[in-house]
Amino acid sequence: MKIFELTYENLVEELARKYGKGEYHATAIFRQLYGRMNTDMAASQDMAASGEFASLFCRAVETETGRVVRKKEQEGVVKFVTRFSDGLSVESVVISMVRHKTVCVSTQAGCRMGCRFCETAKEGLSRNLTVQEIVGQVYAARKNFGSDVRNIVFMGMGEPFDNYDNVIQSINVVSDQRGLDIARRRITVSTAGLEAGLKKFAADGMPHVKLAISLNASNDRLRSELMPVNRAFPMDKLRKLLLGYPLKKKDTFMIAYVQIPGVNDRPEHVLELAQYLALLPAKVNLIPFNPGTDSLYRPPTAKETETFRDLLIEKRVNIQKRTTKGKDLMAACGQLGGEAGQWELPGPSNNKIL
Ligand code: SF4
Repeated sequence: MKIFELTYENLVEELARKYGKGEYHATAIFRQLYGRMNTDMAASQDMAASGEFASLFCRAVETETGRVVRKKEQEGVVKFVTRFSDGLSVESVVISMVRHKTVCVSTQAGCRMGCRFCETAKEGLSRNLTVQEIVGQVYAARKNFGSDVRNIVFMGMGEPFDNYDNVIQSINVVSDQRGLDIARRRITVSTAGLEAGLKKFAADGMPHVKLAISLNASNDRLRSELMPVNRAFPMDKLRKLLLGYPLKKKDTFMIAYVQIPGVNDRPEHVLELAQYLALLPAKVNLIPFNPGTDSLYRPPTAKETETFRDLLIEKRVNIQKRTTKGKDLMAACGQLGGEAGQWELPGPSNNKIL
């Protein structure tokens, strides 16, 4: 039984089905796991008092979520790499905001979307992460950085809607009030724009969860070149879908736009972007391109970013306030990743978490 794949209700059902137990034991298990942030079920006094059930359950339960093998801190941003039992690694990031911390999680080992500006794309897709592996990144962040890790962004490695079911169940688990209790309005899912995933997400009643669209271009020709997903689901169809999306009152879509100098930040792009967004309740997050290894593009200078931002504001594009470097790092998928495979791994550690 993979414990991090289950909401409280799921656990109650599983305990009833497998052991004839119910809420009393589920509460004891969640208390140990999320109240004490301890994955050692045998160390729970409640469990010790449960006799035979405790030993059966402790033998069956799986709490392994991968081993954090590396962390790196820079300007208030902590990146950590989790390595799974099959040797694959993913990267997650924790960033301190004024009143809380946000964790950015990966949903796939690699990605098959092939965006040209993205480090993760170079790896291709190895596999989807399991629910346990996704929730494990949030758990590691909570355990090590405290209960003020209150926001989650699904913007790390991978396309969340390409691993749809596991991402949805992860949201169910982390937002469970008896568990990590992360409010859905504090969760953002970022997508390159997969039509099926967007439609399902809207139909599945996830309006409380915020949606970010990784746009990065102002016309189809350019977007198809930068993001092959656009060939299957071009920009006008994407906009139509967003206009019909059951957004909560006063909510906006986050539009991530990675500025690649000379490629997607020319004056004509400003006009096209302003027209494209005119009817959408959207806020643009402008992210200076962050080059990885052998990058095709260079990062913009501060002056170039300022100019582009000013031109967009002039055209009445709703732009998010300037962010710190750390926030920029988390503003779009494709701006993380790549490093997970490159970081030198330290010797064996007993710590499953950081
Ligand atoms: S930018 Fe995002 S969707 Fe595109 S290849 Fe990278 S991880 Fe995948």
